[in-house]
Amino acid sequence: MSGTPARRAQPSHTTAVRGVTDFSAPAITFDRVTVGYGRGKGVTHALIDFNLRVGRGETVALLGPSGSGKSTALKALAGFVRPTSGSVRLGSRDVTDLPPAKRGIGVVVQSYALFPHMRVADNVAFGLRSQRVPRAQIGARVAEALDMVGMSAYGKRLPRELSGGQQQRIAIARALAIRPSVLLLDEPLAALDAQLRESMLGELAGLRAALPDTAMLYVTHDQSEALALADRIAVMRNSRLADIDTAENLWKRPPSSFTAEFLGGANLLPCTVTRVIGTSALVSIGGVPVTATAPQPDIGHVEWESDLPAFLCVRPHAVTLTAPGARGSFSARIVSTVWRGSTTRITLAVDDFEGVQVDADVSGHDQRGPGTVVGVQFPSDGSVLVPAT
Ligand code: ADP
Ligand code: MG
Repeated sequence: MSGTPARRAQPSHTTAVRGVTDFSAPAITFDRVTVGYGRGKGVTHALIDFNLRVGRGETVALLGPSGSGKSTALKALAGFVRPTSGSVRLGSRDVTDLPPAKRGIGVVVQSYALFPHMRVADNVAFGLRSQRVPRAQIGARVAEALDMVGMSAYGKRLPRELSGGQQQRIAIARALAIRPSVLLLDEPLAALDAQLRESMLGELAGLRAALPDTAMLYVTHDQSEALALADRIAVMRNSRLADIDTAENLWKRPPSSFTAEFLGGANLLPCTVTRVIGTSALVSIGGVPVTATAPQPDIGHVEWESDLPAFLCVRPHAVTLTAPGARGSFSARIVSTVWRGSTTRITLAVDDFEGVQVDADVSGHDQRGPGTVVGVQFPSDGSVLVPAT
């Protein structure tokens, strides 16, 4: 059996509480993993010096743009590609040289990868058979896995007789059937339409709650999936880990402008730091003083110094529109408005900001037209300093 000897040998380890991770025995460890495709001058480094630990019961999202190395990291852990250097561990076991089937990992990919000629139940039983689980137990294990994804009634169907969402559920059931201590999901919702993606996201959140001991690595380029599912988010950029923290910290206090933009979209207004006292900063934007929130260096941020170039990160929902000339407001003109149902996205040209436009989300259907002159404010509790790196 694949088993998890590390876990059995150390039964005292507690499960990760949301946002609090026990690293005394991480379920997953990437230790300085580099992966190159090709050879010599033609080599592409898809993953460079990648370090990551995922605690037992923890869900980490690998979030980044297309081509940033997310799938390569997942494949290195699953055993589908071999690291050029570095190692991967499951518990305390180094699995770098182990064939994929011997790693006991559940893997779900975007394209489902079901066997088209096999019925659903046989697809789900596949991993159990290759692990030589006794025949008498297979039926019950398949039923249990199908039940977890709400597909108990579909065991006799062929994959082509199922919708895309149902096929993805079967792929998840197949991964769960082996009762893996580690579950890897690579853009599992990317092939589904928007509405189905939304409901599957809820189901995945439920599944995560039902598997409190399972470590999950969830690859996505979609920030809303990462925010919805992950205890921590690892942001990937150019084959490297760029930033890692709890979803909330990354969103509220992004450590880099890249993460600020990638996670949630943000206005990044070039500013210079005038002074910082505690978490309160005075900055200057185009010569105009603005107060803001300064993340503290002890949570991985730079030491703030005066005259330091930085960005003021203001989420569109935090931007406030006022009457023109209101106290503490910048004068601006509306460039465009897009109604999005519950909010309207207003793009503004601010007189004092050369070339930097500001997006504001205001509630309801705002019908002010292009050219309208307004005042714009950046409330200090919604404006966070981000190092200009
Ligand atoms: P992501 O999953 O973040 O979109 P990947 O890990 O799939 O990124 O790919 C990272 C980089 O490695 C990309 O530049 C991609 O083109 C390259 N790459 C991926 N797979 C291969 C392969 N089998 N051979 C050569 N290059 C590859
Ligand atoms: Mg990928």
